[in-house]
Amino acid sequence: MTTRPAHDLVLRNARIYDGKGGAPYPGELAITGDRISAVGPAGTIPPGTGEREEDLGGLALAPGFIDAHTHDDRIVLDAPEMLPKISQGVTSVVVGNCGISLAPVTFTDNPPPPMNLLGDARAYAFASFADYAAAIARVVPAVNVAALIGHSALRLATMGDITRKASPNEIEAMQAHADEAMANGAIGLSTGLFYPTNAAADIDEVTRIAGRFAEHGGVYATHMRDEFEHVLDSIDETVTTATAAGIPLVISHHKCAGVSNWGRTLQTLPKIEAAASRHPVNVDVYPYAAGSTNLRADLVTDTYRIMIAWSRPHPEMQARDLIDIAAEWGVDIHEAARRLQPAGAIYFQMDEADVRRVMSSRLAMIGSDGLPHDHHPHPRLWGTFPRVIGHYARDEKLFPIEAAIHKMTSLPARVFRLAGRGSLAAGAFADLVVFDPETILDQATYDQPLRRSIGIGRVYVNGKLSFTAEGGVIGRAGRLIGGRNDG
Ligand SMILES: [Zn+2]
Repeated sequence: MTTRPAHDLVLRNARIYDGKGGAPYPGELAITGDRISAVGPAGTIPPGTGEREEDLGGLALAPGFIDAHTHDDRIVLDAPEMLPKISQGVTSVVVGNCGISLAPVTFTDNPPPPMNLLGDARAYAFASFADYAAAIARVVPAVNVAALIGHSALRLATMGDITRKASPNEIEAMQAHADEAMANGAIGLSTGLFYPTNAAADIDEVTRIAGRFAEHGGVYATHMRDEFEHVLDSIDETVTTATAAGIPLVISHHKCAGVSNWGRTLQTLPKIEAAASRHPVNVDVYPYAAGSTNLRADLVTDTYRIMIAWSRPHPEMQARDLIDIAAEWGVDIHEAARRLQPAGAIYFQMDEADVRRVMSSRLAMIGSDGLPHDHHPHPRLWGTFPRVIGHYARDEKLFPIEAAIHKMTSLPARVFRLAGRGSLAAGAFADLVVFDPETILDQATYDQPLRRSIGIGRVYVNGKLSFTAEGGVIGRAGRLIGGRNDG
């Protein structure tokens, strides 16, 4: 008589990072089905208990990384291999940020900026969140998806005139969408009060919408109204709104933008810390001193470099600097920007010391904010996670590697309420990354943004081997996670 092995796969001789920030230790881990069935120091798992056993040769083994801030709503459906992310060790992405989500809105004409960052009217094919959730289940992307609902999407779905505050009836209609989305597995709300589609919403409107998401256990992420001169006012507005709505808060891609605001994270971070002592508040951050969004007249200046990421009328100008385009055309940068519209840009608008200060905050999660449909994207799309570990933690010693991993695993799992994700524990989902802590590093640059990171050996998603350095994407087992229908 033979007994069935206890585990499907045992990975031995690993350097275990638990995701909770604990120091790494030599250990082993077992997978059975889609779960971790055992984990612990070397010797924990008896010999011969795995259907298969492998020796990792001392490589690092960590929970799969959670990209806390993405605009991957459409790419998970259109290019479900998700190579830019899974090649970094990312196993879950939080979509629907900055007020922009694919559901629940449709368009007959071109979507207005910033909704066009996700594509044209054809991309917006989901009148309800249930439709979007069904598409995720049908496609099965290589990474898990946790979905926020964008306030701009809600406004465009329910309002005729978005240049004013929503009426009580319109707020009720948005709340009904919140009920539908949360019933079908969304994790919360995002706003992008910086953007024209969202800017007319005041504290009262956002509080009423966010309050409905709070009733369903949602979280609230916001691209604040102002990350420039009035950033402190925007933090006040944001904290007031979240507190009144009774909803956990994430301040998106926290930064102090514009040359005259460099250094002001010395003011913003203590303010955010103080708020966090009274209410759940976190931030996400990407490890670069340049941002990226639509090319906007109000962001065009000669005080920092601006690079063109895409332009519909002038695709030949992508990857070039605005100042050079203006010189070639014999016009000023403002006229050049006007001629390039609609377009996207990369703005070198931050101070490196601020970026490091935000990343080092105990409240900070790592989120790429990558724009997967840009033709010449910001390098954060392909490089964020290996850059934080390899460049900032290992080489620059900004914080220990285990702290970097905490910011991209158990911290976002807790903040976004992703049950069973983000740490290595028996019973948790087997979202795993194997990497070489000596070599892991980003390769994408502003000039060559599509270069794949190095040092990621293999990635498991829900127990399935989905990426290897040699084979690329070899499996797809992602699901809609978080929210009511998870687990
Ligand atoms: Zn944003």
